[in-house]
Amino acid sequence: MYVQHLMGLSGLLAAGLFIFGLKRMSSPVTALSGIVVAGVGMVAAVAASFLVVFDLMHAGNDRLGVNVALALVALAVGAGWAWWKGGKVAMTAMPQMVALYNGMGGGAAASIAAVALSGDAGGSPLILGVTVIGALIGSVSLTGSVIAWAKLDGKINHPWRFGGQRIVNGVIFAATALLGVGVVIFHGVPSGLSLAILFFFGALVFGVMMTLPIGGADMPVVISLYNAFTGLAVGLEGFALQNPALMIAGMVVGSAGTLLTALMAKAMNRSLSNVLFSNFGDLSGAGAADVKGEMKSADASDAAINMRYASSVIIIPGYGLAVAQAQQKLYEFVKLLQAAGVDVKFAIHPVAGRMPGHMNVLLAEAGVPYDIIFDMDDINADFVNTDVALVIGANDVVNPSARTDKSSPIYGMPILNADQAHQVYVIKRGQGKGYSGVENTLFYRQNCSMVYGDAQAVLTQMVQSVKDLGA
Ligand code: NDP
Repeated sequence: MYVQHLMGLSGLLAAGLFIFGLKRMSSPVTALSGIVVAGVGMVAAVAASFLVVFDLMHAGNDRLGVNVALALVALAVGAGWAWWKGGKVAMTAMPQMVALYNGMGGGAAASIAAVALSGDAGGSPLILGVTVIGALIGSVSLTGSVIAWAKLDGKINHPWRFGGQRIVNGVIFAATALLGVGVVIFHGVPSGLSLAILFFFGALVFGVMMTLPIGGADMPVVISLYNAFTGLAVGLEGFALQNPALMIAGMVVGSAGTLLTALMAKAMNRSLSNVLFSNFGDLSGAGAADVKGEMKSADASDAAINMRYASSVIIIPGYGLAVAQAQQKLYEFVKLLQAAGVDVKFAIHPVAGRMPGHMNVLLAEAGVPYDIIFDMDDINADFVNTDVALVIGANDVVNPSARTDKSSPIYGMPILNADQAHQVYVIKRGQGKGYSGVENTLFYRQNCSMVYGDAQAVLTQMVQSVKDLGA
């Protein structure tokens, strides 16, 4: 009784800490402490689970001693691996690490269900049904996340598509769902176990089949979706086990993942079905035929000197900055401009880069102060009165076709108004298109010049040119 109350209290404490932690993660200034707070919540939830087991052992269930030992070994291995891996992961490899951790969560929920479904202990059809649904979602999240990891890590380089793929996937899903119904009906009889094995096999295969056709660049949205799936699976298993901490953790993860998926899709002006079922990014030369004029190139030194004598500069970082790992060099350049009296600001598009907050994390890593970093809605009106917009490795997020060209796949996506600045410089390696595969009309405008080269090399040259000018 006493333990039951303590467990409920720990669940409540964990829930409060998760929500408070999430709230703090909404600003870069408080994000780090938010992660610590949510971590403490997780410790409280784990401690509550151990408390229950110790209570059962105290009541005479000695066999649980082996389980506790196994759980402690699993905790040590998992925590040790995460501590070591988390410390050395590169910023550009963060999405694939999130994918792996997410998959583990789905796998854990599916494992809980597997234990429950393989035993003889009865449960009401409702509890069994919830367990089966959780198992299905968790298994899909596990194998889907592993495929997402392989794609982002370059282990799988091409989407795998074939005619009738959606029908095949539909059949696999329907068969798995039917098997799930069978698992509920035949639970406890010998044939039920074979059905359960087939059901898990179908669910795991469906996760693979669902993710293989989706393009690699859409993986961050897919990972976010699987994150929501994992939360839902954990929440359902928590309901089946009547474990409040699991239920709450699952609901928090599920709703946060759903919101994040919706926000990403909205910021890209795409529906979720468009992400899951379209071949976005596979367009070859879309929009190119309509573009008039030609791209002008500028020398890195000339562009740097122009900015040194400008009064205001807005910098737009994009995916290419992350690829070049040029954030430190960029901040060195910014400090030189500021020392010369230039007003420098950063403009961040919500989906610049390859994951939400990608650019904020990159700039924070270089030590750029938060008060010169602005979200799109807070800075878009300033471009008209700005001398120079410096676009570094960004493409889609500054493409004016999104405003005007109804035939463009990115039509309707809100963009940064870089084209409205008096002068635009774009640092990129060549004439490569952005993630959407659409030609960028900004690059052909009168007020725009291309500074070709790797962002790291170009910024190094820019820094040197400003230094050469002296004080
Ligand atoms: P884009 O992917 O549109 O463009 C990046 C540009 O960077 C390319 O045109 C490339 O041109 C250039 N580049 C690549 N490497 C380098 C380098 N080493 N040095 C200099 N330039 C380089 O990036 P954006 O950030 O503008 O847009 C993000 C896109 O990703 C959007 O379409 C968004 O919808 C999508 N997306 C974002 C997600 C998110 O959560 N943030 C999730 C999923 C998709 P070149 O090859 O010529 O150098």
